Amino acid sequence: TGCLYLVGTPIGNLEDISVRALRILKEADIIAAEDTRNTKKLCNYFEIDTPLMSYHEHNLAVGGEKLLTFLQEGKTIALVSDAGLPCISDPGADIVEKAIAQNFPVVPIPGPNAAITALIASGLTPQPFFFYGFLNRGKKDRRQQLEQLKKRQETILLYEAPHRLKETLKDMEAILGNRRIVLARELTKKFEEFLRGTLAEAIEWSQTEEIRGEFCIVLEGNQEVEVEDSEKAYWHTLSIIEHVDY
Ligand code: SAM
Repeated sequence: TGCLYLVGTPIGNLEDISVRALRILKEADIIAAEDTRNTKKLCNYFEIDTPLMSYHEHNLAVGGEKLLTFLQEGKTIALVSDAGLPCISDPGADIVEKAIAQNFPVVPIPGPNAAITALIASGLTPQPFFFYGFLNRGKKDRRQQLEQLKKRQETILLYEAPHRLKETLKDMEAILGNRRIVLARELTKKFEEFLRGTLAEAIEWSQTEEIRGEFCIVLEGNQEVEVEDSEKAYWHTLSIIEHVDY
């Protein structure tokens, strides 16, 4: 019967593909890819000649119908995105929902993910974390989204395009205050780099450097702990005791 595999692919370094992912890509009847040219390169490198079809943001309806027909015909589909995990700031969620609704098995094949990869080497608290993905492109919407993120105490994970990074960092500092931040650039690639510091430092860096490459942003959560009134009274009593001169 038909089956939808969600296959994780590398975020830069081709060695990061799993043995299982390679087998599924080889055995599937069709590979549904966000950008077939991109996936073709991956397939050529690993000598995979499974037929490719395109499934992306702009053909979700038509592409989705086609994929459902394949599933009904008993075919196995391997869904991939350009990098990392399908569905994570990438196409996939729509067809996953439709396949589940029609009782087709949906099988995840784990693989690299840029945000989690950035998080584990960031040095910021790994959990709890809050994954946001991309902020809106428009300044007003982006600022509104940052206002919503302001109170969150979890470490926050974001994606951002290089040409928007400078502006985004400025908005972040204006709205969130000067928190700790880690910029993870070109993960798993030749020029992988981590910029660890404060938002003010990141802004300073972004002004001196031509911003290139792919970035994940790892932001410290809100550290201003709101103490309950009853707790405040408790700490007050303790500090008085501490000051007693024996
Ligand atoms: N599905 C992908 C995943 O699982 O990580 C995310 C796809 S999203 C369209 C692309 C964004 O992920 C980029 O704009 C960048 O913010 C981040 N990204 C992808 N690859 C990266 C890398 N090698 N280094 C740093 N960030 C990366």
